[in-house]
Amino acid sequence: MTATSRIDPTAAPILVVEELNVHYDTSSGPAKAVSDVSFSLKPGERLGLIGESGSGKTTMATALMRLTRAPGRIAGGSVRLDGRDILKMSDKELRETRLRDIALIPQGAMSSLNPVMRLEEQIIDAIAAHVPRMTRQELEAKVTLQLTRVGLDPSVGRRYPHELSGGMKQRAAMAIATSLSPKVIVADEPTSALDVVVQRQVMQTLGRLQDGLGAAVVLIGHDMGLIAQFADTVGVMYAGKLVEIGPVAQMIEHPRHPYTRLLVDSLPGIDQKKPLVGIPGLPPPLVNLPAGCSFNPRCPYAFERCRTETPLLQQITPLERVACHLYPEHQSLPPRPAAKLEARP
Ligand code: SF4
Repeated sequence: MTATSRIDPTAAPILVVEELNVHYDTSSGPAKAVSDVSFSLKPGERLGLIGESGSGKTTMATALMRLTRAPGRIAGGSVRLDGRDILKMSDKELRETRLRDIALIPQGAMSSLNPVMRLEEQIIDAIAAHVPRMTRQELEAKVTLQLTRVGLDPSVGRRYPHELSGGMKQRAAMAIATSLSPKVIVADEPTSALDVVVQRQVMQTLGRLQDGLGAAVVLIGHDMGLIAQFADTVGVMYAGKLVEIGPVAQMIEHPRHPYTRLLVDSLPGIDQKKPLVGIPGLPPPLVNLPAGCSFNPRCPYAFERCRTETPLLQQITPLERVACHLYPEHQSLPPRPAAKLEARP
């Protein structure tokens, strides 16, 4: 199924995130892990959020579910799901909304599965908490359906989590997360620690599940190749901010932000051999961000204004936004100043 057949361009967004801020209180002051992030998703749309470790991706995933825990706190903004702000819901509304309307496929499925319960009981528990009137027979039929949907044999339901492989555990987590047909699925690095073959299978399963449900997906990850294969739209995060967002094909062919350019250049070529380009330097500490653009110490394009003025996320085409002082003066990213790049053999 293509993006055009999956997404109705006239549909209203199902998820609207506006000016979301999440801070971690530290002895050195607040670490702004998510800073003024805004985006929206239509039903059926796949958004990939990418960035290095510490860019705020996982903090974003937990904030979308309102699962932020101390010392983290949501410092502002809204997360509207079908018009209702998750951040303002009562605890009861929130319990009803999670899983039924928005569900999380967590990073590292083992930590989300109960090690002392058989898988079928975990799926039944999750469903019964929201639909208490279902009979045992109906619940068991639903378990069979869910396991089949994620490509597991129904007999796997009798097993405990430690009896499953990594890929099976991740499918089991998907079976639970999609058991009530949520409208939005947040998948936080669902393939981390899996080998490449299993990664591909898990992503295909996620795609099939999503297509069947017509749900929107926020896929969090650090692997540009994996994100590019799955997503319709890609959002690039750096030091807690969204620095570029746009259609995946455009982003891979013509990245706008210098950081996106380096992420794309770090992908190995399939048809032709090319030198792998590393991203120089390290992400900045969130409690002590550089003045101006947070990326300026690592940016091969940085100029004087970048060291004093923070770039705002600006709309540069109807579907693309970028936070960089090179725009709108430039139409596209100029040729790279090669001398500042580090090449790996
Ligand atoms: Fe680089 Fe300046 Fe753009 Fe930041 S604003 S990405 S430092 S060119």
